[in-house]
Amino acid sequence: MNDFPTQLLINGTWLDGSGAKRLAIVNPATEEPFAEVSSATADEIGQAAKAAQAAFESGWRDLPPGQRAEMLHNLAKRIRENTENIAQLETRNVGKPIGDARWEADAGAKVFDYYAGAIGHLCGQTIPVARGGFDFTLRQPMGVIAAITPWNFPFLIACWKVAPALAAGNAVVLKPASLTPLTALMLGQLAQEADLPNGVLQVLPGSGAEAGHALATHPLVRKIGFTGSTEVGTTIMKLAADDIKRVSLELGGKSPNIVFADANWERAAAESPMSVFANTGQDCCARSRMFIEQSIFDRFVDQFVAATEALNIGDPGNETTQVGPMICAAQRELSESFIAGARDAGCEIRSGGDRPDESGFYLNPAVITGVETSDRAWREEIFGPVVCLRPFNDEAEMLREVNDTNFGLSGSVWSSNLSRALRVARRVESGVISVNTHSSVHTEAPFGGFKRSGLGRDLGMSAMEACTEVKNIYVGE
Ligand code: NAP
Ligand code: MG
Repeated sequence: MNDFPTQLLINGTWLDGSGAKRLAIVNPATEEPFAEVSSATADEIGQAAKAAQAAFESGWRDLPPGQRAEMLHNLAKRIRENTENIAQLETRNVGKPIGDARWEADAGAKVFDYYAGAIGHLCGQTIPVARGGFDFTLRQPMGVIAAITPWNFPFLIACWKVAPALAAGNAVVLKPASLTPLTALMLGQLAQEADLPNGVLQVLPGSGAEAGHALATHPLVRKIGFTGSTEVGTTIMKLAADDIKRVSLELGGKSPNIVFADANWERAAAESPMSVFANTGQDCCARSRMFIEQSIFDRFVDQFVAATEALNIGDPGNETTQVGPMICAAQRELSESFIAGARDAGCEIRSGGDRPDESGFYLNPAVITGVETSDRAWREEIFGPVVCLRPFNDEAEMLREVNDTNFGLSGSVWSSNLSRALRVARRVESGVISVNTHSSVHTEAPFGGFKRSGLGRDLGMSAMEACTEVKNIYVGE
């Protein structure tokens, strides 16, 4: 008997699911399966959508904002009381270092507290229209919102999607990634314990092809909040088109890390390995393309390699581990194919790229130089522990290379010349950029991408506003 839920949460009831298929849950650090989870059918997604609509209409949308806020604060409290359980489960299911998993569980609680507080700040406007009278806007909830999430930050990204949608008065149907549904189910359980009404938050693991597709096409679903690959994001946008469903898409990235010679570049070299190898490189914000000013390039690479080789790689259950295994065999093979391709193209693998001896989907972080801008490893999102470094001489030419990509999610600029750093930050085509640090995701600030990295923004007030429709009301004189 597991001490975590493995069924579908539909309208306040835990159900086995009628489908024959079950999702096998594997520990990436041991390669051992340790649980099986129900997999929702299209029919069950339909039941959940109807229950969500009923919960929305029968009270949730009209609940006084203060009561909604209190419930979401309660949910934050329940998350905080269960941080250790959530973190242990996340580490077992994702292979994430336990310290990171604890931080993410706590960050999830903060997201619910933030949006509970934001409820009182979701304001309309009064507008002085030309013909007089009284004109004002309301921000109204949409109804049923679908949340479809990936496997790299299963708990935290579920919180990013669910909290602003609920805070704005919508009901949510959450479909987590098939590889990592456990902490999303736990979120559903904690929401029940926090007395959220039945149907307001339902959690249905299931395959993208069946459950995800059914959710994205269900007529009662008014908006799809999606985080995942650009490929599936494109499909979601097409599926949404028939009903003009709203979409918010947080997709892939190939983010730059730009280091000028006038920066505290020793610090940049020491801190940059974790800007790409954290979460074993399975991070949409991974700074996987590094642009280093030519005059410091050789010294920088030496220090970067030394800092990479000093990382603690291994059992994610250990308190001191910084880099755990990858999520599954297929993702590791994909990363290895990029490394092999780079080697064949004549690039130099300066460190890693090989597997350690132990079982588990481990891959030693690969540091690659000698890359051409046309190489696959430089152009495509790898989503594993692989980084490419290239020297640059000229700022304008470097910026052309930085922006020569279909992605535009994140990035960093290192320079002690603030005018230069800000000039470059403004020119980089990305939704998020950090100066002299790699920290660029904050609960209170908008997060999302330019170009094929996405549409819309998670976090901050933008995410909550994007879970509403604007209604204009005019009162004649
Ligand atoms: P994915 O393959 O795109 O899957 C994401 C979610 O979509 C999963 O729940 C998946 O279900 C579901 N899905 C798959 N096909 C579907 C379909 N036809 N209709 C509806 N849903 C469908 O992404 P992933 O492999 O889990 O995650 C890695 C990707 O996420 C990377 O590209 C990464 O950059 C991106 N990401 C972006 C951000 C960001 O904020 N920008 C954050 C994290 C990750 P299954 O699990 O059953 O396939
Ligand atoms: Mg996938």
